[in-house]
Amino acid sequence: MSTSPLSTNTSTTNNIENVIIIGSGPAGLTAAVYAARARLSPLMIEGEESGGQLMLTTEVENYPGFEHGITGPDLITVMRKQAERFGTKFITRNVTKVDFSSRPFKVYVGQQMYQAQSIIISTGASAKYLGLPSEKEYMNKGVSACATCDGAFFRDQEVGVVGGGDTAMEEAQFLTRFAKKVYLIHRKDSFRASKIMSDRVLKHPKIEVLYNKEVIEVLGDGKTVNKLKLKDTVNGEIQEKSMQGLFLAIGHKPNTDLFKGQITLHDNGYIKTQPGTSYTNIPGVFAAGDVQDFVYRQAITAAGSGCTAALDCERWLEKEGSH
Ligand code: NDP
Repeated sequence: MSTSPLSTNTSTTNNIENVIIIGSGPAGLTAAVYAARARLSPLMIEGEESGGQLMLTTEVENYPGFEHGITGPDLITVMRKQAERFGTKFITRNVTKVDFSSRPFKVYVGQQMYQAQSIIISTGASAKYLGLPSEKEYMNKGVSACATCDGAFFRDQEVGVVGGGDTAMEEAQFLTRFAKKVYLIHRKDSFRASKIMSDRVLKHPKIEVLYNKEVIEVLGDGKTVNKLKLKDTVNGEIQEKSMQGLFLAIGHKPNTDLFKGQITLHDNGYIKTQPGTSYTNIPGVFAAGDVQDFVYRQAITAAGSGCTAALDCERWLEKEGSH
């Protein structure tokens, strides 16, 4: 690739890509497969910790096509190979800045600038965690931020769900399908969740709410979780309760810091797309996956929206006469 200095610090390729895909979870990789097969020769800037949230999961049993399940990292590996096979180019670095104010769009990786006719944003979202060292130690060994993904591994066990919003209500209820008992652990004495969802939880015979409690430590034998240490937020009392799983449902953060001020976001920070499409407010910039979805948040829905974004992008480029 030939490069020419733009300023003393920045270098750029002379090449203008058809499409740059930012982010390499199932949304980005599916967009890459479709864009590459459409001969757009996409450039994916996959990030230094590529693969997204699936890299943090163990077994994925609900992704169609894998009868016996597949691990999250293996699923990402095969998707990436598939995208590569059709000609996707990869850069394993983090995007540090974007400029979507004029075309071609500009994407910076440190001092290196890349240009493209179109962009697909698929930077995902990250689950929020409590930030305890023991929580990290038992990640995927009993600690999870996704009941839909990992709930089935807790058949007939006792689990805790932390949070007081709609996600916590939904996850607690979902977990009752498997667990024999679900403790909903909330730091306050009332929920911020909608009344209808709270009522379902409060009425559920398998769910016990532990109000005014926070998890201060996850305890186990190094391989699995067996207890949670809880602190009462009112009187400071500490207790240990037997539980084999801990599900965090304290919210997600969309990875949109890079795009603030350039793309229209919802109040909760997720990218706004035009209903039923991947179009953002900027023509030529598309968004797919969890970065624009705070409702479904599944690998398969992310992959589906990656396909939508590639098709929208391909048709837009054709209409613009750019490809
Ligand atoms: P929310 O931000 O609504 O709730 C997060 C919850 O986690 C709050 O109860 C908060 O406590 C608690 N929390 C945050 N940080 C900590 C912490 N460090 N320690 C302990 N507890 C903590 O997030 P949700 O994911 O629940 O919901 C996000 C959005 O998605 C909402 O608008 C929700 O309505 C929507 N949603 C809708 C669904 C549906 O309609 N089917 C399903 C799921 C989500 P506190 O209350 O004390 O601040």
